[in-house]
Amino acid sequence: MNRNFLAGASAAELKTFLTQQGQPAFRAKQILDWICQKQVLDPEEMKNRPAPLRAALKEAFYAPSCRVAERAVSARDEVVKLRLELFDKESVELVVIPAGERLTLCLSTQVGCPVGCRFCASGVNGLVRNLKAGEIIEEFLTGCAEAGRKCDNIVFMGIGEGLMNFEELSRALDILTSPEYFNMSPRRITVSTSGFVPGILKLAALEKEFTLAISLHAPDDETRAGIIPDKVRYPIAEILRAADICRDRTGRLYTLEYTLLAGINDSVAQAEALGHLARAHRAKINLIPYNETDSVFKRPSREAIEAFERAAAATGATVTRRVERGAKSAAACGQLRVNAMKKESAQ
Ligand code: SAH
Ligand code: SF4
Repeated sequence: MNRNFLAGASAAELKTFLTQQGQPAFRAKQILDWICQKQVLDPEEMKNRPAPLRAALKEAFYAPSCRVAERAVSARDEVVKLRLELFDKESVELVVIPAGERLTLCLSTQVGCPVGCRFCASGVNGLVRNLKAGEIIEEFLTGCAEAGRKCDNIVFMGIGEGLMNFEELSRALDILTSPEYFNMSPRRITVSTSGFVPGILKLAALEKEFTLAISLHAPDDETRAGIIPDKVRYPIAEILRAADICRDRTGRLYTLEYTLLAGINDSVAQAEALGHLARAHRAKINLIPYNETDSVFKRPSREAIEAFERAAAATGATVTRRVERGAKSAAACGQLRVNAMKKESAQ
């Protein structure tokens, strides 16, 4: 049966369902209130709904479609990384990051990743499939439920290249920001990309104030070619041209993310070149010291990281360093999923 995801269902879709059930269409609003205001997705918990309607909802939709299969809790802070098992037994990860009064969720957009950056656990076996908008919304609801509060910020920095799943990602962005649904500010949502130019241009065309983050990782194309495979790698100049268009359309400055890899992209000269690029494009720099996985890459020493940060900042660019969080055993993006796949294939 071709079931939809209740989490991504539109009011129109719910109205059609209700009419088929012989129910008044105004109940669509009540169902959406349960999902968006009370953040309850399972019809069985929608206690003021008639029992036959709850059963019919459960029959017609995935509600929910996934379950938390694994939790990696950091002893140092309150960060929790969850592995979600999807309806087809595939997995993705999301990270729940509370900071004071605020809650940030790091969400995935695909199962696996077609880009396959050489340092990243997410792309190891390529792309398995795109997530549906409803599955992305379920990640969001799962993260809120885990933290027991509403979410303030979302970063699409989990598994996958979201801009290569643009249709479903943009539907999810719509649901998250629409006043009838979750009403989040687009400014509080960051879309990170390895530099997929057609996707950046599509995001720009939405003309909404989403925050764009470009995973640059190198100030020149030659170094970058050693990190990101050819198949989906665009020249830096083209990426930044597209990012500038996005900035000018949305009025939002973008960020250059830079995963620091020892001996590859961590020299002082590269830091200076990065700083100049950032200045020229009015972009901010966010340094991410590498979380080691099974790849050949190593994390630079603390001294090298600090020297890089100082040299980039000396150019006048704004430089931040990603706060190191998360359970050490699975800090790297995509690691829980890869570990689970290994366990499965060993059985
Ligand atoms: N595909 C998108 C978004 C997901 S990856 C992108 O590449 O931007 C989000 C960020 O996590 C990227 O900047 C990526 O470089 C970084 N990342 C992935 N694995 C990492 C690791 N093991 N250590 C440090 N950063 C990592
Ligand atoms: Fe994909 Fe991003 Fe990982 Fe590269 S860093 S493989 S684009 S998830």
